[in-house]
Amino acid sequence: MASPASLFKITPSTNPLPAAEREQKLKAIQFGRVFTDHMAVVSYRDGKWQDAEVKPYGPLSLDPSASVLHYGQAIFEGFKAYRQPDGSVSLFRPEANWERFNRSAHRLAMPAIPQDVFIGAAEALVALDQAWVPSGSGESLYLRPFMIATDPFLGVRPSDEYLFLIIASPAGEYFPQGLKPVSVWASKEYVRAAPGGTGEAKCAGNYAASLLAQAEAKDHGCDQVIWLDAIQRELIEEMGGMNLFFVYRDGGEPVIVTPALTGTLLPGITRLTLLSLAADLGYKGEERRLPLSDVLRDIQSGAISEVFACGTAAVITPVGLIKGRGFEQVVNNNENGPVAMALRDALLGIQRGTAPDTHGWLHQVPLA
Ligand SMILES: *Cc1c(COP(=O)(O)O)cnc(C)c1O
Repeated sequence: MASPASLFKITPSTNPLPAAEREQKLKAIQFGRVFTDHMAVVSYRDGKWQDAEVKPYGPLSLDPSASVLHYGQAIFEGFKAYRQPDGSVSLFRPEANWERFNRSAHRLAMPAIPQDVFIGAAEALVALDQAWVPSGSGESLYLRPFMIATDPFLGVRPSDEYLFLIIASPAGEYFPQGLKPVSVWASKEYVRAAPGGTGEAKCAGNYAASLLAQAEAKDHGCDQVIWLDAIQRELIEEMGGMNLFFVYRDGGEPVIVTPALTGTLLPGITRLTLLSLAADLGYKGEERRLPLSDVLRDIQSGAISEVFACGTAAVITPVGLIKGRGFEQVVNNNENGPVAMALRDALLGIQRGTAPDTHGWLHQVPLA
């Protein structure tokens, strides 16, 4: 079967970054600020996806009335390409991102994208920009697929035309100073998502609405915000752009517990992956309701030994302090915990190809 990447017309840049400068940028990686030489672009018009192309990275030209600029039909994804020990490059679970992308598209009344277009765009871009995939420990090439509505029309209705793109940014060790726990602010003023809303869609607007609460967390000396449910302001949902886990014990065995998917939290692929990996490590994984007051009580009694967050960008980040109005609770002496670290090592090992990929999560990119 032809590789999905062959659907794409390839237009190489006439002035790619010289190798020496690229190597310079890969030595001091600035995540999210530096992009590779190319981008993948596909247009949706007349009811179909067309003009699939990988071309030089550069500005888009949009009509000022483009509906994304007014009504915010915009969704995105994030996954990574990892250099393998044999020099090949593998994507981590891109099919899961494709499925979630189409669920987000559905929620925002946007068209679905075929799997071969989504994966083919990633393969074609990574193949062309393969020199940008770093090989150091903890490094990867972060891929950012996104879709925007481009109809030049101010009427409020789903757009008829869209652009799908993937851009790529080298990602270094997320915590260059070494991994250390973050502090979180449990926000009762603001909510991220309400029942029936867009909480489980990876849409741009969710992030726009989160920034003020994130600023509030900073004002309280915290690194991140913890979102509670919109109705009772009590059930823990997630943290900033990451899902949360709480480590209990059953006898001696760790049980990693994460809030159940209620429709208002984002179904993270790292979350799903850790629930599978837990079994490999002899842990139990559980999804259920987690009221903040129960969690604080259980941390105090020692029933919860660790709290950590997970997501594609940072993989696993321990939580060392939970704050809110009228309380402040240290977790695990504000230190990295053994369960979080064991899961992190297990996941990074699979992603970097140093541990066997027994679940079939790696998707090798044809580098022709
Ligand atoms: C993307 C995202 C996550 C994490 O999802 P992963 O697939 O694990 O990267 C969690 N919460 C929010 C709000 C997100 O946008």
